Amino acid sequence: MRVPAAFEPAGKPPRTRGRFALRFWSVRHARLLEAIYAGFERGLVRLAPWFGRIGWGRIERPVAAIERIAKGALFDCRMCGACILSSTGMSCPMNCPKNLRNGPCGGVRGNGNCEVYPEMPCVWVEAWNGSRTMRAGDRIGEVQPPVDHRLKGMSSWLRVAREKSLAAGQGAASLAQPRR
Ligand code: SF4
Repeated sequence: MRVPAAFEPAGKPPRTRGRFALRFWSVRHARLLEAIYAGFERGLVRLAPWFGRIGWGRIERPVAAIERIAKGALFDCRMCGACILSSTGMSCPMNCPKNLRNGPCGGVRGNGNCEVYPEMPCVWVEAWNGSRTMRAGDRIGEVQPPVDHRLKGMSSWLRVAREKSLAAGQGAASLAQPRR
């Protein structure tokens, strides 16, 4: 079946469970990854004033490159720039061929697989399973805003660090948005 280009995720389409085993491992270990990320995020927020002094724009590219490698391996991350893994059971919604960020479409197969890629478990079925193991798994019920394509390729880690630092009034003067 030919997939409309607009729905085609970047790169090769995910087709089999075996080939993308690490992504499914991440969902199965969502609670562990949730705890690791919480500590990592606290560290990033603490470092935010330093990032601001160095310059958010300067560190954007190297940090985004590291994030792309780490999250690409663990989640098949597509670098949307607005990560919601913590709300989706560690299953990246951008791997849905329709890029749905608020739950599955109506085409999920009876076996829980994707309508577009029949061999692939639905990203949102995985998301639900992962969320049930997480402490904050009920965040899966939060309504997500549309993806902002201007953020594509940018580091979600830095964006979160910057936003949380600003909210905490931490070094606000040095937290200006990076320029692309
Ligand atoms: S939600 Fe966005 S940043 Fe997070 S893993 Fe998926 S593509 Fe990457």
